[in-house]
Amino acid sequence: MPPVEAYIKKKFAEYYEAFSWRIEGPAEIEKREFGFILFKEKIMVRHRSFKNVEVLRSFIKTVVPSDAYYSSAYYLRPEEDMKGKGWLGAELIFDIDADHIDTPCKEEHDYWMCIKCGRSGMGLAPEACPKCGEGKIQGETWICRSCLERAKEETLKLVRFLMEDFGFDANDVSVYFTGHRGYHVHINAKEILDLGSEERKEIIDYVMGNGIDLSLIEQGGRHGWGKRVALAMEEFNSSQGALRRGRGVKKKAKFVKAFVKEKSVNIDAVVTMDLHRLIRLPETLNSKTGLRVVKVELSKLREFDPFSEALAVTNGEEEIRVIKAPKFSLGGREFGPYEEGRVVHLPMAAALFLMCKGKAEPVEERVRKLV
Ligand SMILES: [Zn+2]
Ligand SMILES: [Zn+2]
Repeated sequence: MPPVEAYIKKKFAEYYEAFSWRIEGPAEIEKREFGFILFKEKIMVRHRSFKNVEVLRSFIKTVVPSDAYYSSAYYLRPEEDMKGKGWLGAELIFDIDADHIDTPCKEEHDYWMCIKCGRSGMGLAPEACPKCGEGKIQGETWICRSCLERAKEETLKLVRFLMEDFGFDANDVSVYFTGHRGYHVHINAKEILDLGSEERKEIIDYVMGNGIDLSLIEQGGRHGWGKRVALAMEEFNSSQGALRRGRGVKKKAKFVKAFVKEKSVNIDAVVTMDLHRLIRLPETLNSKTGLRVVKVELSKLREFDPFSEALAVTNGEEEIRVIKAPKFSLGGREFGPYEEGRVVHLPMAAALFLMCKGKAEPVEERVRKLV
């Protein structure tokens, strides 16, 4: 294992030794499949099951995986291969990832390059190269406060849809920070457990505003999107009263379209439709940042600050050699930007963050002493 990975694993081991009690495990743990990515092999070990949370905790303490997951599905025999598992139902999962949201800050901290022709640029990577049309785009992404704020706004919009339009109870809806680029929303209610992929897709289409008949919705309504549009139209009409009718109609259609776009939620549909999805286990660490996967109470979501409330390894400091890094903030402090090769002394969470992001290495004598 490269020294930097051995170092990260050591820190993860210390964390789990002290805090594995925080892992509660999902409901009906014995019916879930678990998966782990191992530091050295970098492969996903799947089809594991645990009869209770104590066994799960001691497994994590012993193995110290780089990432830990469990199935949104319930199975009769979770340790068997996919065919033999006996699917019993699955939670409804939504994935909101800042990577899919075009934020202005990406122009400052994200970089992409076409593998074929070498064309490069800043910002969100295009699906195909604007020069040669090839789809092989490589890049480097970073995560900042604005990215995660936008992801949180999407999460808040989604939660509103789920509660107001679908009528889920606050107790059925759980929100988790994923430890990296966004949030997961889980619905665990008996009404949704046996929904198939297509049915889940319909929910996705609704909250994403896909396939809405704009002419129909312009007429307003008493529920859902119709009601939302009707309320917005009232405001629109009172501000547009003086306009000539012809121009007004066109403007109205444009307004409704923009309104739907603004109010709809940006979600990764694939995750929701997958009935066998493995999702991050709360209170384990995300190896891309060293941050915790944490549950966020609905009432505290608006104020939630992942860069201080999801810190995991916080004791001590470390001297690291940075491989060029944009600025970031952690634990209420600002760091960077750092030039290539600079040696800095940072609080442990910040040092670990840079190492996990592949942007730093521990200075050698220290590694020998610690690993
Ligand atoms: Zn190209
Ligand atoms: Zn950003």
